Amino acid sequence: MSTFRVPVAALLVACAASPQQKALPSTPQRGVEVGDLDRAADPCDDFFAFSNGAWRAQNPIPASMQRWSRRWQASEANKGQLRDILDEISAKSWRAGSVEQLVGDYYASCMDEARVNAAGLTPLRPLLEKIDALQAPEAVQKMIVELHDLGVAAPFAVSAQPDNHQPDQTIADISASGLGLPDRDYYLKPEPRFAQARDNYRAHLVRLMGLAAVPDPKEVSETVFAFEKRLAEASLDNVELRDPAATDHKTRFAGLETLAPHLQWAAYFDGAHLPRADLNVDQPRFLAAVDRELAQTPVSAWRAYLRWQLLAAAAPWLSEPFARESFEFNEHQLAGVPEMKPRWKRCAQSTDALFGDALGRKYIERYFPPAAKARAQELVKNLLSAMKDTIETVEWMGPATRKKALEKLATFHAKIGYPDQWKDYGSVRVRRETFWQNFAAGRAWNVNDDRSLVGKPTDRGRWGMTPPTSNASYDPFLNEITFPAGILQPPAFSLDATDAVNYGGMGVGIGHEISHGFDDQGSQYDAQGRLQNWWTKADLDEFHSRAQCVSDQFEGYFVEPGLHHNGKLVLGEAIGDLGGAHLAWKALQKALQQHPAPPSTDGFTPDQQFFIAWGQFRGDEIRPEAQRLMIQGDPHPVAKFRVIGPLSNLPAFQQAFSCKAGAAMVRPPEKRCDVW
Ligand SMILES: [Zn+2]
Repeated sequence: MSTFRVPVAALLVACAASPQQKALPSTPQRGVEVGDLDRAADPCDDFFAFSNGAWRAQNPIPASMQRWSRRWQASEANKGQLRDILDEISAKSWRAGSVEQLVGDYYASCMDEARVNAAGLTPLRPLLEKIDALQAPEAVQKMIVELHDLGVAAPFAVSAQPDNHQPDQTIADISASGLGLPDRDYYLKPEPRFAQARDNYRAHLVRLMGLAAVPDPKEVSETVFAFEKRLAEASLDNVELRDPAATDHKTRFAGLETLAPHLQWAAYFDGAHLPRADLNVDQPRFLAAVDRELAQTPVSAWRAYLRWQLLAAAAPWLSEPFARESFEFNEHQLAGVPEMKPRWKRCAQSTDALFGDALGRKYIERYFPPAAKARAQELVKNLLSAMKDTIETVEWMGPATRKKALEKLATFHAKIGYPDQWKDYGSVRVRRETFWQNFAAGRAWNVNDDRSLVGKPTDRGRWGMTPPTSNASYDPFLNEITFPAGILQPPAFSLDATDAVNYGGMGVGIGHEISHGFDDQGSQYDAQGRLQNWWTKADLDEFHSRAQCVSDQFEGYFVEPGLHHNGKLVLGEAIGDLGGAHLAWKALQKALQQHPAPPSTDGFTPDQQFFIAWGQFRGDEIRPEAQRLMIQGDPHPVAKFRVIGPLSNLPAFQQAFSCKAGAAMVRPPEKRCDVW
């Protein structure tokens, strides 16, 4: 090794191409995880079982998780890496106000469980006493502002969002919020799973209020439940919420005062340092209902409701009995999780959630090689090029729409790994002795940071996810796809994997996000990110009928007797997966022309490896309760159908595994869905 210092990037490149590798140009690259395959399953019959069945059989879901797969395992391992960083940093003392002091002392204060337990409900008492003292509707409104300052968004939320009609400007967006159950259906629908959740929730209300020594917890709980039920009745359901037009209600500031005259908006906006300017109201009917509550409901009911909302938001971060009760309802009863996550994991997660850019800097330095970023950029470039080919050649689109679609694709932007500019938390004061105050200061900083965007040109550099996050996203306003460092690792992506494996994992993921720009929602936003139609009538009709095929396909997928996917709810994600798999497969064919691969690795052709990699990336085992929760509220299909659904539409899959017509993984030609 040479004695002079080399930049890290060069070092990593040098390591990747060691002298030994240079001498052996055909050094085999890593293929799929052959030990994960269930070879007893027929890939043409159940590809989910074939591609990952052995792994699932050998790796039961850990007691603190809802789902489990290699991907979730990697995501949890990221938290272990955060712990290593935080343990190291918090063992030393640092200059006050430095990034290290912030995250180190925050984490240390969170980990001081004895002190948190000894404090009990004490940190919350000043706020609870204020709520107990509320007498007039005006005071209720002041309290709502104070709770919003702390990130307790009840009964509505105000946040910064690019303007639907002029997305280079960011405006205030008022949305419905403040329900303790996951969505409106849980309050209103008769099915046993909702009725059971209501019973559990009511009991949870009584127990948590009891812990907080609220007098008459039973009666107060009924008041809170009735209040939330009225809000639920005025709320849109999960399918309606996916329709961008249904939540597009731009209004002048004066319009707000007409819509909800009992709410003192001027005081709210001034107090929150928000400009009194044009804004969007997601759900006018909901806001009118809140206004009615303010005019008609006794202040005593508001006291009960606000006290509950504060308690429920704070409980996971208070002493053990509160945290356990919160877990019992939200995780155990609703999602079937038997055990709480260990405290270090909750504390690492909280540090990431509140100070993600400070902790993320440390994470990137240690765990994200520049070579990974370069390789991911290349993948994105090749996937965008596959989408360009697709748009140029799909036979069902006319020239006018095609031109607009290409214009939109040309403005796509990708964020990879981590932000160029880190947020500055310099104004946050954190001390080792005061966990709750630290937590509250972190929440308040994030609320203010979001508010500070309103009334300004949209900041294109901001990230919605933190670097260690194992996820990806598409933003229709910015026409932008984002892949944090946390997802750019096995099983999605690896510097030593074959192209087939990387295209089958991360490549499909990138294609998925690109397809979101052209799914049932994204297709409604134009190249500038405006909610504005750019389709001819005939092409839009054709697109809708192709989307309907996908919706019908998923309607037919049952997770248990009587319970199947809601095609309209999962449509965007299902189009994303179908487009993603198709685009990534096309991109792989091009890559293989440029860099030919051996005809097989571990006995699998590159095409077979590609599909298996997707099946292994999406190899979730899931608890039945978590599955019911997803079916009701998650726009993503469950993993099994994210594998089976798109692949059974692809002739390339059928060919790769020589599946015969009539096999379960081969949809008949008249039922085959094809969008992108
Ligand atoms: Zn998606």
